[in-house]
Amino acid sequence: MISSDDARKLLVDTGIELLKTGLVARTWGNISARISHETCVITPSGLDYTQTKEKDIVVLDIITGQWQGSRKPSGERGVHRAAYQTYDDVGFVIHTHQPYASAIGLAGFDRLDITEEEQQTLGGIALAGYGLSGTKTLINAVKKALQSGAQTVLMIHHGALICGRDKEQAMKRATLLEEISRRNLKGQPKESITLSDSETSRKEQVLSVLKERYPYVDIVQSPEVMALSEKGKTVSAQLDDMAQMIGSRIPAVEQDIGKIRRAMVKHGAILVKGLGGVIRAETADDAEALKLLFDKTAIARLHTDALCSPVRLGSFDCWLMHLMYSKKYAKQKNA
Ligand code: 13P
Ligand code: ZN
Repeated sequence: MISSDDARKLLVDTGIELLKTGLVARTWGNISARISHETCVITPSGLDYTQTKEKDIVVLDIITGQWQGSRKPSGERGVHRAAYQTYDDVGFVIHTHQPYASAIGLAGFDRLDITEEEQQTLGGIALAGYGLSGTKTLINAVKKALQSGAQTVLMIHHGALICGRDKEQAMKRATLLEEISRRNLKGQPKESITLSDSETSRKEQVLSVLKERYPYVDIVQSPEVMALSEKGKTVSAQLDDMAQMIGSRIPAVEQDIGKIRRAMVKHGAILVKGLGGVIRAETADDAEALKLLFDKTAIARLHTDALCSPVRLGSFDCWLMHLMYSKKYAKQKNA
């Protein structure tokens, strides 16, 4: 079994790797490694992966849940403990917010095109029912999925929990899961789009007006966000990271600068037909996260629309998550 010092370094390095591969964004997701039969080390809650040092890693008792460290352990420690308790041979656990698997967790899991060999490589795959992040309901739902014999678990409205005997196996599973999910997505735009000169200059015009008021404003024009904006419909939150950072909905607004400006007062993200997704943020870092969230939101919504599955998070849960995120969770990022 890996030593505590080696495991701390491994978690720090894996955090950076997960960010680079897009399997997590911002401070979402978490990682743990078993260091004895009854003990693991786990990433701290809410701290930026690029700032996490070995000293920030927390030691967690798998059986009792007691912990030791200078920082609070991940709020998702309950599902990590459940993984180690269910499988003696599991030595590494990752909770990801990977975009394609998150979309499959919303719809299409029951008709997933997956080979027998892929299932085996994933160590079995199951879908866990919904529970708010960190709650007993979520832990019990994930436990049930793990106990069904799966080491790769999709968490509805949320992300994935991936177990492995070691880091290599867990990372391989997370990557394979994303590949399988991507090929199972429905309703996605076929090709990359080329914007016309007039579309590009419209984007520049709108940005120059909005920048007078908001220093960190940008327009996302990925094929997925453009396709979503064409629908001209308000988008309700389906995934918890959008609910946390953006709120319960992204309104659709006509391409009129007055209307865009008015909508931006209330909303950090709006959809504008023919223009894309407009975001405003307090910092450059927040703006980057909002752009990633916009793409993820569009991928999920196009997929669930194509499957006629209008699954969405409840408005009370969205309100609660947004409140907790802005008042508490987001403040730990650079602390
Ligand atoms: P932590 O930062 O507390 O690990 O939580 C991140 C997350 O993804 C919650 O589901
Ligand atoms: Zn999460």
